[in-house]
Amino acid sequence: MNAEIIAVGSELLLGQIDNTNASFLSRELSSIGINVFYHQAVGDNEARLTSVLQASTERSDIVIVTGGLGPTKDDLTKETVAKLVNKELVYDNETYTRLEAFFISRNRTMTDNNKKQALIVEGAHVLQNDAGLACGMAIKHNDTIFVLLPGPPSELKPMVKSYALAFLQKEMGQQHVIESLILRFFEIGESRLVEELDDLIEAQTNPTIAPLASDGECMLRLTVKGSSTHENMQKLDALKDTILDRVGEYCYGVGEPTLEEVTVNELLTKSATVSSAESLTGGLFAEQLTSVTGTSKCFKGGTICYTNEAKESFGVPASVLAEYGAISEQTAQHLAELAKKTYDSTYAVSMTGVAGPDSSENKQPGLVYIGIATPSTTHIYSIQAGGNRQRVRVLAAKYAMYYLLKE
Ligand code: ATP
Ligand code: MG
Repeated sequence: MNAEIIAVGSELLLGQIDNTNASFLSRELSSIGINVFYHQAVGDNEARLTSVLQASTERSDIVIVTGGLGPTKDDLTKETVAKLVNKELVYDNETYTRLEAFFISRNRTMTDNNKKQALIVEGAHVLQNDAGLACGMAIKHNDTIFVLLPGPPSELKPMVKSYALAFLQKEMGQQHVIESLILRFFEIGESRLVEELDDLIEAQTNPTIAPLASDGECMLRLTVKGSSTHENMQKLDALKDTILDRVGEYCYGVGEPTLEEVTVNELLTKSATVSSAESLTGGLFAEQLTSVTGTSKCFKGGTICYTNEAKESFGVPASVLAEYGAISEQTAQHLAELAKKTYDSTYAVSMTGVAGPDSSENKQPGLVYIGIATPSTTHIYSIQAGGNRQRVRVLAAKYAMYYLLKE
C-alpha cells in the first residue's frame, strides 16, 4: 500500500511552523510497511484542499490529512472531505459525551463551535483523541482510505500510535513484520560506497538499502518487510554478506553501536586500556570515548598538549619540535608513546594537526597526524580532512578511534 500526507494549515505555508507531523507520520508508516510517496502542505482553503484531495485519490491508497479538525472557522478539513465523498457530517455519540464531560468538569458551557469537534463524516471509523478534544477518523471511499488527524503533534502522535496504525494494519489484511539493520562504515565516502553497490541499490525492492552520511561516517540502513522475523533476518543477513564481500574492509560495525561504543566494546573485549595525548582536538577524543558507559574500565586518562611548551613539558624533545614541527609524524609518535608510558595503558593515541582556517607551520588546514602506540610498536597515519575547523577536529578524533580499532 502506498500513502501520501497532506498537512493543512496556512501557518505551514507562511513558514511559521515546521511540518513535523509529516516526518513523524512517514517514520511511523514505514515501520508498518506503508510506503509514503508524497508530502504536501496546503493552506486553510476549501477549493485548494479539494483539488489536492482529488489528485491524491488518483494515486494513493491511503491519504493522511493532518490539521483543521478544531473548532474554529478556518478548520475545514472534515467539511471538505465530507463533500468529496458525498457524505454528511454527523455527531459521534461517544466523542460528544466525552466533550460534554470535559466542559462540565471545567464548569464551562459548550458552544456550537466546541460541539463541532464531535462531528464525523457519516460512516467513519472514529480515532479517539486521548490528549485533546477533536476526534480523528478514518473514511473508506472507493479504493482510498482517508485518515484525518488533529494538527497539534501532542494530540496527533498518541492518536497515531494508539489507534491509527492499528486500524491501517487491519485494513492491510496481513500484518507485516519489519526489520532493519545498520551497517557502519568509515574511511569510505558516501559516493564511493554507493558506486560500489550501484547494481544492488538500483535493483533494491525488499530489502531496501538507504545510505546515510554524517561527519565522515557512512551508514547503510537495510530494511526488509515480510511475514516473519526469521525470514526477514535471513534476507537481511544474505544482503549484508553480499555488501560486506565488496566493502567489508571499511565496515567497523553492524547494528546500533556508534564508533565510540564499538571502540569501547573492542577494548573491553580485549581487556585492553587506552590513553590519549591530544593537540588540535583539545580533548575531543577523550570526551567522545568517555561519553560511553563502561569507559572507566578501558580509558586511563588523557592530556591536552596544545602549545609547543605544553608538548615539551609532556616530554616531546625540544629538538624534535624544532626540527620537524609540532605537526609532524615525529611529534605524533612521541605524544602517543609518552601517553602510553604516562598512563601505563595498553594502547595510546595522539592527534596533532592544523584545524584551520589558517595554515600553521606552512602546513595546510586539515592535515592531521595520528599516532597509535601499541604494545609492540607505534603506527603513524596522516589524513587530510576537508571542511571547517570543527569538522577537522571531529574527523581527527574519529579517525583516531578507527585506527585504534584496526589494531
Ligand atoms: P486545533 O483544535 O488546535 O485547532 P486542528 O486539528 O484544527 O487543532 P490546526 O488548527 O491545523 O489543527 O493546527 C493547530 C496547531 O497544531 C498549529 O498551530 C500548530 O502548532 C500545530 N500543527 C498543525 N499542523 C502541524 C504540522 N503539520 N506539523 C507540526 N505542527 C502542526
Ligand atoms: Mg485549528
